[in-house]
Amino acid sequence: MIHLRALTIGRFQPFHKGHLNVVKKISNEVDEIVICIGSAQISHEVDNPFTAGERIEMIKKSLSQNGIDNIYYIIPIEDIERNSLWVSHLESMTPPFDVVYSNNSLVARLCRERGYEVRHSPLFKRDKYSGTEIRNRILKDEEWKSLVPNGTKEVIKEVKGVKRLKKVSREEVSQD
Ligand code: NAD
Repeated sequence: MIHLRALTIGRFQPFHKGHLNVVKKISNEVDEIVICIGSAQISHEVDNPFTAGERIEMIKKSLSQNGIDNIYYIIPIEDIERNSLWVSHLESMTPPFDVVYSNNSLVARLCRERGYEVRHSPLFKRDKYSGTEIRNRILKDEEWKSLVPNGTKEVIKEVKGVKRLKKVSREEVSQD
């Protein structure tokens, strides 16, 4: 059998059930998955509350609790100023990969230009399973826990993520 390694990338702010479904689908199609955590340098912002390390833990816990046991790597990737060099940057940080899974149009375009096959995955309940929706619900004290896997819930609790998100939101508003 041909050994196939896929790469997928997301900000995972936070890792939610839509992301989990994508990883499950990929795990049925390939032998190994490289999961890249994008914008790894950013945290403690309303749109990006969690550190790369916290996002690694969310993903690791959620995958193991859901029995996803393909060989996978979780690799933080910092943003760079030049899109034209971004795929080389990615390649310098990851094991070689054969196919890219992304619905992000910029990621797809840059990877295709570099010669990679890019596969799209269906969106799972995008109105609910969305980082923006989850962060908004947390800020408004609305129900959000059903939208994330248990692993993510546990990490948000451990790092007092709700308190942090509300605090950075107040600070960003007061700076306007
Ligand atoms: P994201 O967390 O929003 O999404 C990750 C993937 O999951 C996407 O393909 C998205 O379509 C999919 N997804 C989200 N919700 C879903 C749902 N409900 N059902 C199914 N799929 C769902 O992350 P993103 O914005 O795609 O991340 C791209 C990263 O790449 C960012 O960190 C960006 O900064 C980085 N990037 C950097 C550069 C650069 O540094 N120059 C260039 C391109 C991309």
